[in-house]
Amino acid sequence: MESIAAPSLTPDETQRVGEAISRYWGFPSLRPLQESAIAAALRGRDSLTVLPTGGGKSLCYQVPPLLSDCTDVVVSPLISLMKDQVDGLKACGCAAAAIHSGMSAQERRDVEGDLTAGRLRLVFAAPERLLTDPFLRLLDRLQVCRFAIDEAHCISHWGHDFRPEYRRIAELRERFPKSSIHAFTATATQRVRKDIVQQLRLRDAVTLVGSFDRPNLIYRVVPRIDLEAQVLEAVRRHAGEAVIIYCLSRRDTEDLADFLREQKVSAAAYHAGLDAQLRRTVQDAFAAEKLDVVVATVAFGMGIDRSNVRCVAHACIPKSIEHYQQETGRAGRDSLPAECVLFYSASDVMRWESLIEKSAEEADRPQEVIASMSRLLQQMQHFCNVPRCRHRALVEYFGQQYPRENCEACDVCLAEAEEIKDSTTIARKILSCVARVEQRFGVGHVVDVLVGTSGERIRDLGHDKLSTFGLLAATPRRALKNLIYQLIDQDLLVRTADDKPVLKLNEASWEVMRGQRQVRLIQPKEESLTATSADQDGWAGVDRGLFESLRALRRDVAERRSVPAFVIFSDNTLRHMARLRPSSLTGLSRLLGVGEQKLADFGAQFVHEIVDHCKKQHLSMDNKDVDAGWTSRPKKRRKRTQGVRTADQMFAKGCSIEQVVAATGRARSTAYQYLAEYIEAAAPPDIDRWVSQTTYRLVEEAARTASTDRLKPIFERLGGTVPYEDIRLVLAHRRALTSRGTPSA
Ligand code: ADP
Repeated sequence: MESIAAPSLTPDETQRVGEAISRYWGFPSLRPLQESAIAAALRGRDSLTVLPTGGGKSLCYQVPPLLSDCTDVVVSPLISLMKDQVDGLKACGCAAAAIHSGMSAQERRDVEGDLTAGRLRLVFAAPERLLTDPFLRLLDRLQVCRFAIDEAHCISHWGHDFRPEYRRIAELRERFPKSSIHAFTATATQRVRKDIVQQLRLRDAVTLVGSFDRPNLIYRVVPRIDLEAQVLEAVRRHAGEAVIIYCLSRRDTEDLADFLREQKVSAAAYHAGLDAQLRRTVQDAFAAEKLDVVVATVAFGMGIDRSNVRCVAHACIPKSIEHYQQETGRAGRDSLPAECVLFYSASDVMRWESLIEKSAEEADRPQEVIASMSRLLQQMQHFCNVPRCRHRALVEYFGQQYPRENCEACDVCLAEAEEIKDSTTIARKILSCVARVEQRFGVGHVVDVLVGTSGERIRDLGHDKLSTFGLLAATPRRALKNLIYQLIDQDLLVRTADDKPVLKLNEASWEVMRGQRQVRLIQPKEESLTATSADQDGWAGVDRGLFESLRALRRDVAERRSVPAFVIFSDNTLRHMARLRPSSLTGLSRLLGVGEQKLADFGAQFVHEIVDHCKKQHLSMDNKDVDAGWTSRPKKRRKRTQGVRTADQMFAKGCSIEQVVAATGRARSTAYQYLAEYIEAAAPPDIDRWVSQTTYRLVEEAARTASTDRLKPIFERLGGTVPYEDIRLVLAHRRALTSRGTPSA
């Protein structure tokens, strides 16, 4: 954390803030930087707070008005963001309102009346509304203590989301010299940070910079070989969960969304070309959890607050690391594990380059701006290409140090990519083919020759007679294309930048062909990608069936109130409910995220659902609060084959051994082995689906009396009445519960 003379709360303030966050939000404590930001606000000291998405910025401007007798104004760029915040605050029992163009005159008058009468202390507004004469006059009449500027990077040309209307916010300083200004942003390089301070004319500002690392995110950069298949696999890793897929063009989003729908995935496209009503429908369906997957251009996101996005996939490289950080930032805002997977091909870089050039020509942009955009793109490309810990690379890009050796949460540290064994030989074959076609053809044609496609054109050119024709016939076309782009990426081959790009050799190509240079080409490891292992800690002890019932209940409650589902309770809170399973309102009130208002409004419904479910499923209730890893960093991972992954997913859904045998084609004994491993790793609250409660008790008793956890003595003590497989499962379950300190089922 970087800070300049970070203020802290007095003991009295600490107590009052503590009471407020417990009462309204059900939080036991503030995060370190939140305390300093709130202290700065209470002192009337300007501040700039830089925290990653999900870091908890909102609380920093939501708490101070609860402790003061004046009005605070939050400037926010989008109506949808403001509405979500206001809905969230109201659900917690805090008075708040937004003033925006979507309101009727009467609604606006009501809000103004509440503000004037002091019934309302927190109001949200977009900059263009804020700076209208009537609104400024209203603010003149009120005593405005503080202005909080959310998404403050929008004020900077150097940020990734510049909004000209943000520039005028600076006028507040002169008009309200006594009010303090507090800027908040997630993504800020030093340059953007400085710019924010200057543009907003902050005075002696406290600068609070949190760690840019998002430890709950797993970053993956995967060679793009078969985009549709790869995207589908990623979506299936997160079946039933929220996924955002970013594409470069509108057309790409529509094609991919169509494809996913054909595969029975609940998916929709979203881009700036759709009409506003349709965009709104998609956004609302996603927020209401009625739509799982949104395939979007970057136009989607800023207005989306859904906190339980479990995967952000990039079908194409983003144009800068800032964009990447911002877009991946939408995953796992609830601090639970989430995956960010980027399907990379160097061809994207070329697409971006030509787009940058085109837009520069059209908009007549200065050379300096184009150069800066190209540099940002190159840095992003470098990030993809260099096999360095992704968490480290991102954190260092934003000027911080990364303290860990191995993040255990990126493709590099998890060693998920592997080098192709005969990389140099393959590279030589590709390069010789480029030489044989006399450096006059593009990627597609070279691929055709190498795989041996004998089309008319190839025959006319006589390329079917070349010695390289069909030389890599066993390599799938898409994989081969990716390898060619890897060579281009490594400057071992050149693709010209004109309208009809062709492949050319350079000095390095010849060195490879002469055997003077080794080449490293990579491919994803068949077995490596898994979401469940990373997720296991976050799911430890959670009864999935109950979680799903609670989710359905949350959806209903949200729909009745016309608010997004996450406003009711976060996934984090629902997982807690499904793990600890409180049977009373008192028990529920102890859970993180359950404040007084929510307890009063929906507590009874949720407790009823919990008790009902637990009775039907014979689940224990009122479990002790043990740390089951819901802070998210994935712990140790097992080596997992495709079979194990499928089995784990099926067991998590409660499938039987027979079903798993049928789906995986593995022997029954192997399926039992998988089940024992699953039980030990996931520690489900009970294993009734696989072993009857009577058998469980018998084995437990025998293990206790024989003081052993070895199979044979227990088997013998039971006189051979219980099969080995069942004994193994019970012992695995006992070990899992003991290691987590959970009471026996
Ligand atoms: P940001 O605005 O920085 O993206 P949010 O304010 O949306 O982050 O907070 C992210 C998540 O963290 C939310 O789910 C919020 O409820 C939770 N959160 C924020 N502050 C705390 C806290 N002090 N204790 C527990 N959870 C918190």
